[in-house]
Amino acid sequence: MRFQETLYPEWGQNFANDRILFEIETDHQHLVIFENTRFGRVMALDGVIQTTESDEYIYHEMMVHVPLLSLAEPKRVLIIGGGDGGILREVLKHPSVSHVTQVEIDQAVVDLCREYFPKHSAGAFDDPRLDLVIADGATFMEQCEETFDCIITDSTDPIGPGEVLFESSFYQHCAKCLTETGVLVTQNGVPFMQGDEVTNTYRRWRDLFVTRRFYLTTVPTYAGGPMAMGYAQKQQTAIPSTDVLDQRSQSLGPLRYYTPEVHHGAFGLPQYVQELMTD
Ligand code: SAM
Repeated sequence: MRFQETLYPEWGQNFANDRILFEIETDHQHLVIFENTRFGRVMALDGVIQTTESDEYIYHEMMVHVPLLSLAEPKRVLIIGGGDGGILREVLKHPSVSHVTQVEIDQAVVDLCREYFPKHSAGAFDDPRLDLVIADGATFMEQCEETFDCIITDSTDPIGPGEVLFESSFYQHCAKCLTETGVLVTQNGVPFMQGDEVTNTYRRWRDLFVTRRFYLTTVPTYAGGPMAMGYAQKQQTAIPSTDVLDQRSQSLGPLRYYTPEVHHGAFGLPQYVQELMTD
């Protein structure tokens, strides 16, 4: 058996699907979890690879520590999506974080990932700092009257339930719920294959954020080259020095991907990505 990713009709990766552990049509999406000898357990939603045991740390460390270490003392964090728990695990490593709200649309993802990917959340769903909300992130943001130091959108691609998390109205509500120094970070696709996601996000952020950046991280099972992570702030800011990042990261304990040097390097964008950032 093989699992064929269906994100791109004309091209895609496939996995030897050694054993299907669970498969279901949830209220929101198709979910399958299977074993692969090289990547360990793998989860796909609506035919698109979401996370694997072997490379999840790359994505989760870079989606979390780049924004949080860019802030002096982040306290309140909002996660949209992220039902596998990897983002939450990394956020809770920050001792300054006193409260996390996580808004995940699909309870089944949380339940099944707690069971089949226990190392992703590693107990994070039981942390007293967490308020887990099962709801559509776009609806939550529209009604939200709280502010956060950091909002992390760990969504699926802009197909199916994730589509609303790439729209202007969602970003407007994120801007409303960010503190003046707060950071929004978004899962923003693989530019070589999904360049329009960078361009669309950059344009939709124009009137909301003074700082509009992307940084790149190569995650082996997000096929097609390095993936872009959107980074936005309402103020003009500079990337903290590696010395500051090094000092701030000391309290996180051992990491497997993130370093201050990688943090800086990730914002160095090749021409083909810079060309996508047009108003
Ligand atoms: N790291 C993956 C990636 O880069 O594609 C994303 C992983 S995480 C499993 C994606 C999560 O977004 C899923 O749990 C999915 O249920 C959730 N999601 C999709 N649309 C959503 C929405 N509108 N509101 C909240 N969560 C949503």
